[in-house]
Formats: sequence, structure tokens, C-alpha cells
Amino acid sequence: MLSVENVRKSFGGLPVLKGISLEVRQGEVLAVIGPSGSGKSTLLRCITQLERVDSGKITICGETLVSNNEQEKAVYADKQTRVKIGLHLGLVFQNFNLFPHFSVLRNVTEAPVRVLKKNKAEAERTARALLEKMGLADKADAYPCQLSGGQQQRVSIARALAMNPDILFFDEPTSALDPELTGEILKVIRELAAEHMTMVVVTHEMKFARDVADQVIFMDGGNIVEQGTASDVFGSTKEERTKAFLSRFN
Ligand code: ADP
Ligand code: MG
Repeated sequence: MLSVENVRKSFGGLPVLKGISLEVRQGEVLAVIGPSGSGKSTLLRCITQLERVDSGKITICGETLVSNNEQEKAVYADKQTRVKIGLHLGLVFQNFNLFPHFSVLRNVTEAPVRVLKKNKAEAERTARALLEKMGLADKADAYPCQLSGGQQQRVSIARALAMNPDILFFDEPTSALDPELTGEILKVIRELAAEHMTMVVVTHEMKFARDVADQVIFMDGGNIVEQGTASDVFGSTKEERTKAFLSRFN
């Protein structure tokens, strides 16, 4: 479903991704862990088209977003294909990024109506069903500022799901939340995993990663240092850098 091959990205001459390769199969959950500044967000932003890579290849749902030419430069798909690929992806940010001036319901219906050209009534039916699933049936008419951080994040998950994505990406979905609110978000992601939603989750919640992820990647300094099943990476850690990182969470 997702294949990343030897992706490199620098900012102003500073290499941030130094040749990243990974694969995610349909229905799989990949957890990406690693210290701050290791390139996790940049990797998600490159896959989800918020940043452009310098070289490498990214294939999503059978469509090649970017490939190399002979000079090892990135060649992007045409605009139409990029738009098509965008429709396969959902992204949930650390800081929710809701539209503050729209109601909860409109936050969820906006993209299906504007981008997918769904009719408003149908979009609202779907949105209400998703809000109910997120435990927010009674918040449809509220505004983001009237909600807790955990509720806002659940709205942003509903908003991503409303586009019916094939892969959902989460960039530290709980790090802006008070500790007592992280559980409600992790529970939603666990439920999506149980429904076999394909997901890539950048997280500092190690217990969650260990329980939910099929595959775990540990990044440090723009490289993948260790990669394997959750029990490989957490249970029989090989690399010293991974051991040192994980020891901070014990
Ligand atoms: P992580 O998500 O693992 O904390 P990031 O991908 O956010 O790491 O950042 C990796 C490195 O890239 C950091 O050194 C960061 O300062 C740098 N970086 C990220 N985005 C930009 C940008 N837009 N311009 C310049 N440097 C950036
Ligand atoms: Mg980050």
C-alpha cells in the first residue's frame, strides 16, 4: 500500500532524511518512534505531499508519487496523479488544525463537499455517523474552542475519515494533550487498527506502539536505526541507540 525507497531530504544543505526505506501493507499499523529532531515529521510530510523530497521513490496505492531520474533527482508525478494520490491519504496533526470559525459538523463536511463534491445532506449524514463513532454526537454544532483538546483531536480524526482514506497518518496525535486525555485518542486509534485501517503513527507512547503496531521503525539523525515487528524492536532490541532511547520511557 505504501513503499518508500531511499528517500533523501535536506533543508538548506542540512540533511534531515538520509535514505529512508520502508513498506506498509494493507491493514498494517506502522509506528515511527525516535527522538525529537530525528526526521519523523519530515518523513510524514514528504509522504503526504506537504514537502518535496530531493531524491528517492514513493509509491502509494499503486501510484508513483515520486521517482528518481538518472541524476538521482526527484521526479514528481503530474498534478492530476498527485491530486489522486492525495485522496488516498488522511493526516492527523499534533495540534488538530481544525477550522476555528466552522462548527464541528462543518469541519467534517467541508472537504467531502468541496473536494469530493458530495451533496451536503449526504456529507452531513456521514459526518454525524463519524462523530457518533468518536463519541461526539452531541458536539456537532459546537465550535472547536468549546471543546477539550481530546475532543478536538477526535473531530480531526472524524474529518480525516470523512474523506474515506486508504491510509491514515498521525503525527504525534497525543503530544499536545494533557496526559488524562491521551487515552481517549489512543483508544480511537486502537479501534481503527481493529478495523484493519492502514496507519502510520508517529508516537512517543511506547506501550501503545508495542500493543498496536505490526511494524516499528526507530529513527535517529535522519536514518532508520532499527526496524522490525513490535516484539523485535521492543522485546529484543539490537541497536544501542534504540536501547538508550527506550530506556528513557521505563
Ligand atoms: P521530528 O519530527 O522527528 O522531531 P522533524 O522532521 O520535525 O523531526 O525535524 C528534523 C530536522 O529537520 C530538525 O533538525 C528540524 O529543525 C529540521 N527541519 C524540519 N522542518 C524544517 C524546515 N521547514 N526548514 C528547515 N529545517 C527544518
Ligand atoms: Mg515531529
